[in-house]
Amino acid sequence: MSSAEPPVLPPPSAHRASPRATDPGAPASVVVVGAGLAGAQTVGALRRRGYAGRVTLLGAEGVPPYDRPPLSKELLSRPGPAWLAEDLGVDVEALADEVRLADPAVRLERRATPDGRLWEITTRSGERRAAAAVVLAVGSTPVRPDGWEHARLLHTVRDAEALRGALRPGLRLVIVGAGWIGAELAGVAAGAGAHVTVLEAAPAPLRRQLGPAVGAHLAPWYAAVGAELVTGAAVAEVRPDGVRLADGRELSADLVLAAVGARPATDWLDGAVPRDVRGSVPVDATGAVPGLAGLWAVGDCATREHPLLGAVPGGHWSAALHDPDATVAALLGDEPDAPGHAPYVFSQQLGHDLALFGVPDEADDVLFRGDPSGGPTGHEGWAAFYLAPGTTSGSTSDGGTTADGGPERRVTEVRAVLLVDSPRDVGPVRKAMNRAGRLGVDLDVALDPTRRLRDALV
Ligand SMILES: Cc1cc2nc3c(=O)[nH]c(=O)nc-3n(C[C@H](O)[C@H](O)[C@H](O)COP(=O)(O)OP(=O)(O)OC[C@H]3O[C@@H](n4cnc5c(N)ncnc54)[C@H](O)[C@@H]3O)c2cc1C
Repeated sequence: MSSAEPPVLPPPSAHRASPRATDPGAPASVVVVGAGLAGAQTVGALRRRGYAGRVTLLGAEGVPPYDRPPLSKELLSRPGPAWLAEDLGVDVEALADEVRLADPAVRLERRATPDGRLWEITTRSGERRAAAAVVLAVGSTPVRPDGWEHARLLHTVRDAEALRGALRPGLRLVIVGAGWIGAELAGVAAGAGAHVTVLEAAPAPLRRQLGPAVGAHLAPWYAAVGAELVTGAAVAEVRPDGVRLADGRELSADLVLAAVGARPATDWLDGAVPRDVRGSVPVDATGAVPGLAGLWAVGDCATREHPLLGAVPGGHWSAALHDPDATVAALLGDEPDAPGHAPYVFSQQLGHDLALFGVPDEADDVLFRGDPSGGPTGHEGWAAFYLAPGTTSGSTSDGGTTADGGPERRVTEVRAVLLVDSPRDVGPVRKAMNRAGRLGVDLDVALDPTRRLRDALV
């Protein structure tokens, strides 16, 4: 792990069990579909909030819930899975009445019965379960375009194990996609002595996630760790011994890894649950699926309504960590006791630490704090502020003079902030963003790297 503040895992939870299955409004049984981070957190939150009804957890991978981010960042330094029972204290075997880790749900049907059970779930083994409430926590599956059968993926502990076994000095590794996972893996593999080539169809790495202005500054990071980045390179075919690009160029490889994105794992819900074009289940701010009583969705498979940011697609580890508690509170008729959490993505890639708060838009204006080339060492901290186009000129005052009688501040609302190699700023920005949902920033202070960023946050 490098110098950045690590993502904050809450302390292992205390799971109190003051029975409340008989509470009016509490469903008699809950089936949680998906045994990943969001599923485990849902089971944990149910028991922590005293739910004593029947809880069933269905999984697909045949292993207990684990954390995915270390699969790429710590591929070689942490050979075993990061089990959530250890890292979060959520031991699903101890908390749920029934845990089926290798029997995925294949069908969901609405079947209202007189005793209040609204849903029936069929699993791959053919078993059927009725439930008063269902929480979908099925996450996402990596995209593997047709014809790319020879490409490997990095999404599960099994993928990581296979990749770890194959990585060796001198291995010719082609990674397709310079997104979060492609970049993280490129650094780890190059560090292990592999010859790494990253092929990216866009003109810059992380362009879709961070926009063109920021992406361009990340491109030199590849050469600095000994990996080659080729942008504007669309892969047309993956063969057992390499790839062919759309422009006819060919590249030999011992191993090709596809890191071209993920889609919600919701195909099996076709016809039963409304989904958007990405396959995500739209839910309200509590995680409820509108119009379908007793149905909820959390984590990567859901697009959740945020009071300020609007519909926020899943795909953020922090959402899978935090949102289940508010969902379980609503499911049980409780008031949620945690404030909302702004979208947050962290990454350790190519020798750099990134923390992204909020949801940038490709069209946003971007203002930099510090030198995005990383200064003379290449590793000096910098930040990018994303503003709706034209916002800078429309800055607003936050009212009169400052507390110490100084001149009034010009506060601008920013949509997102990217912090690079700036560990000290992560905590204050996270706190401010979680409190307000969007960040008010005094740009005069924020864009002056000699002043503390925390003093610019409103
Ligand atoms: C290699 C890697 C690195 C990552 N690094 C970062 C990072 O640095 N920062 C960050 O913010 N995010 C990162 N992520 C994303 C992050 O891991 C996810 O946002 C998070 O895991 C989402 O949790 P989830 O529980 O919603 O989904 P998942 O973790 O995908 O869990 C869903 C589970 O449901 C199971 N399932 C699917 N369908 C069914 C079914 N029909 N029935 C039963 N079970 C089913 C799946 O097999 C899976 O086990 C990374 C992801 C990967 C793969």
